[in-house]
Amino acid sequence: FERLKRGLARSSGALGESISSIFTKRKLDDDTLQDLEDILIQADLGVETAMTITERLADGRYNKEVSGEEVQKILADEVNAVLEPVAKPLEISSRDDGSPHVILMIGVNGAGKTTTIGKLAQKFNAEGKSVMLAAGDTFRAAAIDQLKVWGQRTNSPVVAREVGSDAAGLAFDAMTEAKEQGRDILMIDTAGRLQNRTELMAELEKIVRVIKKHDESAPHSVLLVLDATTGQNALNQVEIFSKIAGVTGLVMTKLDGTARGGILVAISAKHKMPVHFIGVGEGVEDLEPFKSEDFARAIAG
Ligand code: GDP
Repeated sequence: FERLKRGLARSSGALGESISSIFTKRKLDDDTLQDLEDILIQADLGVETAMTITERLADGRYNKEVSGEEVQKILADEVNAVLEPVAKPLEISSRDDGSPHVILMIGVNGAGKTTTIGKLAQKFNAEGKSVMLAAGDTFRAAAIDQLKVWGQRTNSPVVAREVGSDAAGLAFDAMTEAKEQGRDILMIDTAGRLQNRTELMAELEKIVRVIKKHDESAPHSVLLVLDATTGQNALNQVEIFSKIAGVTGLVMTKLDGTARGGILVAISAKHKMPVHFIGVGEGVEDLEPFKSEDFARAIAG
């Protein structure tokens, strides 16, 4: 929590300060409510959530003096009310035919897919689950190399091919290999070239289709990785990737930096998609299960 709170400090601290400055010895009138709504929208919480929060605040308090702390408390409660239903742990199915639980990692380049795979591999290992990784971002040599580094770091075998090879074929072969080796979990990295949406769509669709050929029930998890620092862009990415591949859950990264964690509230209010983990740094341990209450308190400052 401290890590997250420190991480969100820049945005949430600013939010807390703005709230305090609005609510010093001021009655809760239309002007104050409008000011509050504006700063909540600026903090990326989304218009709807900002309106709900201000309405809730006005209820029974209109024309009365309220303190900044009171507003922060209500803000935290409201944010938690949005986030609590979506804060869900990632469930790993145990498969009786010896085939792995297949996790497909998707998201735009730079969002943190490869890093998150490494962090998850570490976590699964610690839970006694065996892992295999597949370097499905076959467009970038650096992405393949990076996944290999994470494989070494976490003692996980990596299925990789040369740059330019067919990602769907690689995913299929990795499934065969993971089953042969009796691996519990197979995590497949993918390319995220959003600048060419048609190709991205075609490729992801093909990967999913070929994975299903191997195992009709797979992929068992499709995790969309979102970079918190991209603000409103993340909302667009949820829409695009949901259409291409049925997203089963979200991971939001980089909440340690110039985080704009408010966007997670807007996404959750709109899409109600499970949020499994948050990234709070570049290191292997910097992935935390998503806890709505901690997050809400950190946002409210
Ligand atoms: P990919 O292109 O989606 O696979 O993204 P990468 O995993 O290569 O990550 C892009 C950059 O973001 C790398 O420099 C990572 O170290 C960094 N990164 C990933 N997750 C986090 C995070 O939670 N916090 C911070 N500060 N950096 C992160």
